[in-house]
Amino acid sequence: MWIDSHCHLDAPEFDADRDEVVSDSRAAGVEAIINLPGHVDHFAQAKATRERYGCLTAYGIHPMWVAGPLLHSKREDINTLRSWVEREKPDLIGEIGLDFFIPNFNLVEQEWFFAEQLKIARDCNLAVSLHVRRSQDHVLKHLRRIKVRGGFAHAFNGSAQQAAEFVKLGFCLGFGGTATFPQARRVRALLHDVPIENIVVETDAPDIPPSFLGTMASGARNSPVYLPRIGAMLADARAMSVDAFAAATSANVRRVLAREN
Ligand SMILES: [Zn+2]
Repeated sequence: MWIDSHCHLDAPEFDADRDEVVSDSRAAGVEAIINLPGHVDHFAQAKATRERYGCLTAYGIHPMWVAGPLLHSKREDINTLRSWVEREKPDLIGEIGLDFFIPNFNLVEQEWFFAEQLKIARDCNLAVSLHVRRSQDHVLKHLRRIKVRGGFAHAFNGSAQQAAEFVKLGFCLGFGGTATFPQARRVRALLHDVPIENIVVETDAPDIPPSFLGTMASGARNSPVYLPRIGAMLADARAMSVDAFAAATSANVRRVLAREN
């Protein structure tokens, strides 16, 4: 059985058939899905999704929505997040992080939101789901300063040294659609070499379509339904049996989320 460690089930791409997507995913062998909203305006929807489908749930403010052109976040949204977390007791905090790929990104605001959200995770003893794009070293700097219990570095795409630093801090690295492309040599090498205890699988649906769906530019919609098929391709790249890879990666998610208290 598989766990999708990173999925955006509330995305409008699923509005027409969300019930079917969830039931087909279950039937295909996906035992759990971590759903992540990225803006305070989306938290109520994520709560409804949690109640309807029983998915694992994160609350957090995505770096794209810290100062993005679509949904701007205000600093007082951090208070909203903290009260949601205290009241709703989510399974983790996310998706949070730093994105230095966004045109004209606002470094000051991104770092402020990221640090404040790490503090909430630390104070509430929750794991985090990290968005790390062109920002590995900056994210690591914050993680060394504000100690959280661990979590997932989603869609990891850093160097082997950076991967080792995340592992040292107790993080699992998330692999998905990108690693299904043979030309993604660096990601596939990481998938092969990182300790198995530090690997989780994800779809990031509706984004990051795997090779069998074509490219993102083709408009293909990724879905948790495809996780077992993606996972089988990743198991192959890891040179492991599909069953052993599914069991190990699912156990890693459960271990990261398990509460000691
Ligand atoms: Zn995401």
